[in-house]
Amino acid sequence: TWRMLCFRCHSEERTAAIPPAEADATVYMNFMKSHRCYDAIPTSCKLVIFDTTLQVKKAFFALVANGLRAAPLWDSKLQRFVGMLTITDFINILHCYYKSPMVQMYELESHKIETWRGESVQNIYLQYSSHFLISISPEASLFDAIYSLLRHKIHRLPVIDPESGNVLHILTHKRILKFLHIFGKKIRQPAFVRRQIQELGIGTFRDIATVQQTASVYDALSIFVERRVSALPVVDQQGKTLKYTPRAVCFRLQNLAAQKTYNNLDMTMQEALRRRSCYVEGVIKCYPDETLETIIDRIVQAEVHRLVLVDRADVVKGIISLSDLLQAMVLTPAGIDALLS
Ligand code: ADP
Ligand code: AMP
Repeated sequence: TWRMLCFRCHSEERTAAIPPAEADATVYMNFMKSHRCYDAIPTSCKLVIFDTTLQVKKAFFALVANGLRAAPLWDSKLQRFVGMLTITDFINILHCYYKSPMVQMYELESHKIETWRGESVQNIYLQYSSHFLISISPEASLFDAIYSLLRHKIHRLPVIDPESGNVLHILTHKRILKFLHIFGKKIRQPAFVRRQIQELGIGTFRDIATVQQTASVYDALSIFVERRVSALPVVDQQGKTLKYTPRAVCFRLQNLAAQKTYNNLDMTMQEALRRRSCYVEGVIKCYPDETLETIIDRIVQAEVHRLVLVDRADVVKGIISLSDLLQAMVLTPAGIDALLS
């Protein structure tokens, strides 16, 4: 975690210059407009780049081995970056090729990144994906980075040095909000952070995608593919979140690949969660009457991408993700609405 604190900016001088009379609603927008992506990147970090001729299976094992969630893709013929490989891609690949625990997924063994990407251009799995790399310059503002993340509905934004063409870092919603949380302490808090989340209406409260604990892991993958959500709360028949739900992300690459259970996706969610119970954390929740301030503190401290909003009976009522927070705190005040719908 020490690395998270090694931000590059001189924010104290910058934030002190913000006039005290500034209008409440634009404080976060101005903060993001006045800081560069370069300011938010760590002094050192681990970055893995994959050549598109690498086998997809090896690529995912390499991600797990390095404790990473995504890697930029380099096409050595074209001599440029052509995209990203993320956990969403792994879920798509598994969903596409899985038949039963008795049938080996030969495609997983044989596909290279480039052949999977080439083939999936015609199928449903890449229909919402970009066929080129979405990146940002270190000199661009954090406001532009947030806009790009939300506009393209992605969770990884490589910062590329325009001179060398090197990837310097992969920005995420989490890192940007953490940056605000640390350096934004110096700025005057707008009044709306003390209002309740139900009053502000920040988040998604209708048609929440969840998965029953009795459903199979394959069913969960199908929901991910169809609904294009980044997490599924695992619930019981009453819609209550399960105590041992892993942060709301019901299913993660690390565990599947590490335990080599990807060949049995017929297993129930309950069983999959039980197998990984030794390192599952409780689902991080929030309540409709909690203030935005409390929610920001909790989501930053827990280092998660979303909170599951539950009522007092623990029934899932909504999702508040970092995208919702950045939309409401930074883009809506700039007059940019509804990028998430
Ligand atoms: P995850 O949440 O699993 O890390 P994303 O939601 O960011 O992944 O990715 C969704 C899809 O968009 C994936 O197919 C991924 O390869 C693609 N993608 C993610 N980031 C970028 C990017 N910067 N440029 C182009 N495609 C991207
Ligand atoms: P995310 O990709 O997690 O940043 O979220 C993008 C949008 O989808 C946000 O408006 C979230 O509130 C919403 N969202 C995230 N997860 C779910 C889910 N399981 N069901 C419905 N909406 C969701």
